[in-house]
Amino acid sequence: MQASFGEEIPFQSKLGLDREASGFSSTITRRFVIAPSFSIYGGVAGLYDYGPVGCAVKANLLNRWRSHFIIEEDMLEVDCSCVTPEAVLEASGHVAKFQDLMVKEEGTGTCFRADHLLEEHMEKLMEKEKNEDKKKEYAAVVARIDDFSPLELEETMAKYRVLSPEGKPVSAPFPFNLMFAISIGPTGMYKGFLRPETAQSIFTNFKRLLEFQGGKLPFAAAQIGRAFRNEIAPRSGVLRVREFEMCEIEHFVKENEKSHPKFVTVKDIKLPLFPQEQQLGSGKLLSCTLGEAVEHGIIANETLGYFIGRTYLFLTESGVKTDKIRFRQHMKNEMAHYACDCWDAEMLTSYGWIECVGIADRSCFDLSQHSMKSNETLVAYEQYKDGPRVVEALEVEVNKGLVGKALRGDAKLLAPYIESLDEAGKIALKQELESGQAKITAGGKELTLTPEMLTIKKVEKKVSGENFFPHVIEPSFGVGRILYAILEQNFYTREDSAAAAADEKDKSKKGDVKRAVLSLPPHLAPVQCSVLPLLDKDEFNAIIPRIVSSLKAERLSTKVDSTGQAIGRRYARTDEIGIPFGITIDHQTLENDTVTLRERDTTAQLRVPIAELALLIRDLCEGRQAWQALLDSKKYPHHQ
Ligand code: AMP
Repeated sequence: MQASFGEEIPFQSKLGLDREASGFSSTITRRFVIAPSFSIYGGVAGLYDYGPVGCAVKANLLNRWRSHFIIEEDMLEVDCSCVTPEAVLEASGHVAKFQDLMVKEEGTGTCFRADHLLEEHMEKLMEKEKNEDKKKEYAAVVARIDDFSPLELEETMAKYRVLSPEGKPVSAPFPFNLMFAISIGPTGMYKGFLRPETAQSIFTNFKRLLEFQGGKLPFAAAQIGRAFRNEIAPRSGVLRVREFEMCEIEHFVKENEKSHPKFVTVKDIKLPLFPQEQQLGSGKLLSCTLGEAVEHGIIANETLGYFIGRTYLFLTESGVKTDKIRFRQHMKNEMAHYACDCWDAEMLTSYGWIECVGIADRSCFDLSQHSMKSNETLVAYEQYKDGPRVVEALEVEVNKGLVGKALRGDAKLLAPYIESLDEAGKIALKQELESGQAKITAGGKELTLTPEMLTIKKVEKKVSGENFFPHVIEPSFGVGRILYAILEQNFYTREDSAAAAADEKDKSKKGDVKRAVLSLPPHLAPVQCSVLPLLDKDEFNAIIPRIVSSLKAERLSTKVDSTGQAIGRRYARTDEIGIPFGITIDHQTLENDTVTLRERDTTAQLRVPIAELALLIRDLCEGRQAWQALLDSKKYPHHQ
């Protein structure tokens, strides 16, 4: 059904970049932006290294992320351990549920992710199929894959006779846990995992963070760090890896207070949304404002909407193209059972639409789980605004002598457990005790309680406030995926006319050389400007230190190339790693202390006094001065 607001718009399904033929993949590896790890030993699927260019771009992206989210929103930053005890991930549900369904190829035992295999199979069927109805049927299966229950996935794979890419039969799907198991310490007895996400240690530090915040909600904590997932068959290059950087935010709020004071700042942003209804129906995007989406209940609440808006701004300001991003709502089965709503920021890459950020309302699941399983109750307290109230409540009285005798060392686990119980929990415990005994899990231990140990009775109490489990909205960013999508979306090739014209050796090839350009926003570029003496001569080189130190004083990064190679070739080398500005010291510099300033995408050049250079480039990089406006202004002479 067409929504009564906004408009439905189609989306592109292909980026239109041939990774190999365009030279993208080879540029990325050759210029050591990102390259396979341990390749001299044959490499390992899903492990990648960032080289100097990749590191610099990633650092710039993370700096921007830190200022866009942590600084702008006064978030509390933490940096916690990657090595995580089993008990933590048992409480969070990862030990039992952090799994993908896998199939094995008969005979070889090669493993595949079941949903990926089904998707590829259906896409092949669609390509071959002439009958339109059949095509629609196959497309409907693809649209529903994320929504399939394990049983539905198995039945669908059987129905369409899904085979391995080698055309061999595969097993029925079965779950595979994606965490890397480790043992902590020398005994091998203390089990743990490398963390599969950074979020859990924010929850385990909740009490400290709340105290730091003066006990007041809402507040957000954030963490930038590594996560590890033993992906079944990582094939999409750096998009599906086994070790990656995440930036995660946990924004804690009271359950019924999910409005956001700064929602007004994003409510008019028009976004390409892909709600559940459109995924199952028209297959088109819904373009509407965030205000409309929240008002009509498509996005569950303002806080979730606020973070969707802020994420959109962060990504588009970082170079993601507005027609190559969409926010896709999770289908009902795809969403974790405790989540109220979840949206993925997906970006178009040469591998198709890829989830780069997940933004979920996780309700109070994590804090209540850790409260049940640890020795702490992770609640917030709120004083009633209208003064103390007299309430009827269940009070739990502990027969300490008996409990001490029966539970011995574990007796101390009982008090925090009782404290963590809400009224419903107390009623349930009372009923269980009335049946003879109650089995509880406190501090990770199973304890048996008898009716003699506890008395649970109704009392009238004067209370001035209440404890509650805060809910949490979690935006979770995969840094590698975002970075890769930005690289692909900003990569292009052009005829090498300017470079070849200036390059004596290339003159014969003029026009038939394609050169790669990485058109990164200046604030993300690995280096902001190159400094290139036209010739490798002492009188030119002598000027370099003065220029470099004036640029560094403005916090601009520089790369000097005084190899004396043809200038066109040197420009091309800077273009393919995305350096936006190039400064050339030439004969005229010696006469009047001016240099040429070249911009990467237009390749236009201006002649600028050295004294004005650093501030001008700073303004250009920070967006205070637009290059085209500077060209049009004729403030500086054009250089041919
Ligand atoms: P999730 O916790 O599964 O929602 O993942 C959060 C974010 O981490 C995703 O939006 C991705 O950007 C990123 N991510 C998840 N798995 C991988 C992976 N195997 N390789 C690279 N990035 C990943």
